[in-house]
Amino acid sequence: FWTRVKELAQKNIKSGAYEYFIDPAQLLSIENDTANILVESSFHKDYWRKQSDLISTAGFEVFGKPISYALFSKDELSSHELEALSDEFQEEKTSSKISEQATPILTGLNGKYTFENFVQGPGNRWTLAAAVAVADKPGDTYNPLFIYGGAGLGKTHLMHAIGNEILTDNPTAKVKYVSSENFVNDYVNATRKNQMESFEHTYRNLDLLLLDDVQFFSDKEGTKTEFFNTFNTLYEKGAQIVLTSDRIPQELNNLEERLVSRFSWGLTTDITAPDYETRMAILLIKSEASNLDFPSETLSYIAGQIDSNVRELEGALNRVEFVANANNVTRVDIETASQALRSLKSQANQSLSNLTVKRIQDEVAKYYHISLSDLIGPKRPKEIAFPRQIAMYLVRELLGTSLPAIGNAFGGRDHTTVMYAYKQISDKMKTEIDVQKDIDNIKRKFL
Ligand code: ADP
Ligand code: MG
Repeated sequence: FWTRVKELAQKNIKSGAYEYFIDPAQLLSIENDTANILVESSFHKDYWRKQSDLISTAGFEVFGKPISYALFSKDELSSHELEALSDEFQEEKTSSKISEQATPILTGLNGKYTFENFVQGPGNRWTLAAAVAVADKPGDTYNPLFIYGGAGLGKTHLMHAIGNEILTDNPTAKVKYVSSENFVNDYVNATRKNQMESFEHTYRNLDLLLLDDVQFFSDKEGTKTEFFNTFNTLYEKGAQIVLTSDRIPQELNNLEERLVSRFSWGLTTDITAPDYETRMAILLIKSEASNLDFPSETLSYIAGQIDSNVRELEGALNRVEFVANANNVTRVDIETASQALRSLKSQANQSLSNLTVKRIQDEVAKYYHISLSDLIGPKRPKEIAFPRQIAMYLVRELLGTSLPAIGNAFGGRDHTTVMYAYKQISDKMKTEIDVQKDIDNIKRKFL
């Protein structure tokens, strides 16, 4: 329509006037048979007012009906209004494209997350294996695949890796990665704009749906039902579904039980925090991309400082790089790294600042399902002595309390007992994954 308007104008209007008045004008939108046209100034508007023939002729030719027009000049419209008008136009254009083209799905995938650059470790081994299996035979192995675990442990990375791998094997596969929040937003927008057909067309014809962070799924009825129906449609036609969450399905209070129970038709698998070796491997890979030289003792230092999750590990490395660059250091020694991480640690320490011996004892007792009085009392069977050692270790590690004071807090024990406990747990931390895991899990309760 707009092209036709300009063609007609070119034919009928002197070229000087065309270039000055017509060419710079923009079509903002066509709503209710009215073309909204943006012109340079109110002076241009006067000129356009006399061009009703142009618009109505083009309207009849293109749409077969009369089109009226409204004029907006740039000096009258606020930038906000302008944005609103042209936004609508943009959306109209894309939605009409959707019905024309066969499958213009935005995959939402980030190509930088692949299996190749995902480091395997004891905390993610099974989940990685499941993800690879799913990417290899989508719909045929674990369906749905439900991955859960704490923040920054690689859930989103693995989802993208699955999507990227499937698209590499089969470039025409219909793949979509979407956060639960965006799924909800898409749905709400589609209902508001009467575009449910296009929404369902997109989501229900997928070969692979990657739905991230389902704990953030809205608990509104309509959205939940839509999700349920999408899930069923995809599942029934054998499309692969992958979901992630920070908790196990049974703890998802925002979703319906009938949906949650379907999650267990496939495989539920978890990711836990990376151990020291995995952290080192991740740092090695990430530091290779840097222009700086990282000796392994520096990486080892960083890996020892940051044990919570991979995102923080990356953040720490970035911070060290930043400080090294700022100081024109090319070979990053431990001194530089510790300087860079000091402020990070002081932030972490803030959350530890209201931590007390009592709080640590409470959490440890709860974690091992024993009573507080047993924890600090005289009993010595293994089920109690071990948690007691863990608690002593944590008090020493997190609060730096003196050995005699710790002894006092644990029913008046001798400081050599505390020292022995500390040494026991430190040694086990180096070799026993279960102990590392316990300590990690308990520590996390304090952050
Ligand atoms: P989550 O979704 O579990 O919160 P992400 O997938 O966003 O975590 O991971 C956070 C960051 O850590 C990302 O940059 C990701 O690439 C990286 N990462 C996590 N786990 C690994 C791993 N095993 N190997 C390499 N990088 C990882
Ligand atoms: Mg994530």
